[in-house]
Amino acid sequence: MGEPLLKLEDVRVHYGRLLAVDGLSLELAGGHLLGLIGPNGAGKTTTLRAAAGLLPISSGSVRVLGWDVFDAPTQVGRHLGLTPDTPALYGGLTVEQHLHFIGRCYGLSQGQREERIEHWLETLWLKDKRTAKVQTLSRGMKQRLAVARTLLSDPHVVLLDEPAAGLDPAGRVQFRRLLASLRDQGKAIIVSSHILADLADYCTHIGMMERGRLRQCGTVAEIVAGSGPEHCLYRVVLARAIGDAGARLAHLDGATRLRVDGTLVTFEAERDAEVATALLQRLISLGLPVSEFRALEPGLEEAYLRSGIEQVD
Ligand code: ATP
Repeated sequence: MGEPLLKLEDVRVHYGRLLAVDGLSLELAGGHLLGLIGPNGAGKTTTLRAAAGLLPISSGSVRVLGWDVFDAPTQVGRHLGLTPDTPALYGGLTVEQHLHFIGRCYGLSQGQREERIEHWLETLWLKDKRTAKVQTLSRGMKQRLAVARTLLSDPHVVLLDEPAAGLDPAGRVQFRRLLASLRDQGKAIIVSSHILADLADYCTHIGMMERGRLRQCGTVAEIVAGSGPEHCLYRVVLARAIGDAGARLAHLDGATRLRVDGTLVTFEAERDAEVATALLQRLISLGLPVSEFRALEPGLEEAYLRSGIEQVD
């Protein structure tokens, strides 16, 4: 990998006594787009805020283009942009006034501001809204404006906290294209998301967080191929929850990493049609009311379920 644009080394972040990020290390070079996933409370937002130098860290270090984010905030500020999950925008200004204000904060000339604002209003489908007051925008529009605000200074390192959450389906497709284009321009990007379905299409890397730790981190291919081609995750839905399902399933030969969560049962087993038939027959003979039975195709969702990552609370 080339020279990292962003480097986190053994970062710990506390909120009082709570250890929200626990010894997290990662490196991103230009052209790397990391999808950060994990359950609520895993520490994704805290990691992004610490990476942007907005939150003091208890130990470790964060470097952007070699500069320490806490020792050299001015240099880092020029090269790093963060869109928080709840962006702070100036509601009383129009969209255009807001972006001009931000552009002035970054020392952009009038000409640079006009050119860049035009570009981002076009790219983020806000042209019709240029004279609208920010407070009158919908949630998805505010999110797009927040991304425009982040990209206005043309940062090398871009951190986006759940940017697609409020976007409509067409907006998500366009947004994916935008991320892919930023990636191809050589920026280092982290996107936190709960929408796993399309992350594998545009991310180069995936990081799975749980309880403040980066449980798995690697290229999309490495994460997806984790179980090897011969095994896969089976997903079974029961018509109703069965109190002793776990005990009955202890007799399911050939299945490992069995988990029962209400009506959802998952386990790993050989990826083979005959094996699948035998497993289904066995489940029925154990008296379980199977309403769905599926061997999941290898993918991010399968890898995430397979990792057994649990809710923090
Ligand atoms: P989500 O997917 O819900 O956005 P997350 O992965 O971004 O979650 P964080 O917001 O980073 O998780 O929270 C990590 C932990 O830190 C959680 O236990 C949370 O309750 C705690 N936490 C977050 N912000 C604060 C705060 N300001 N003060 C105290 N604890 C906090």
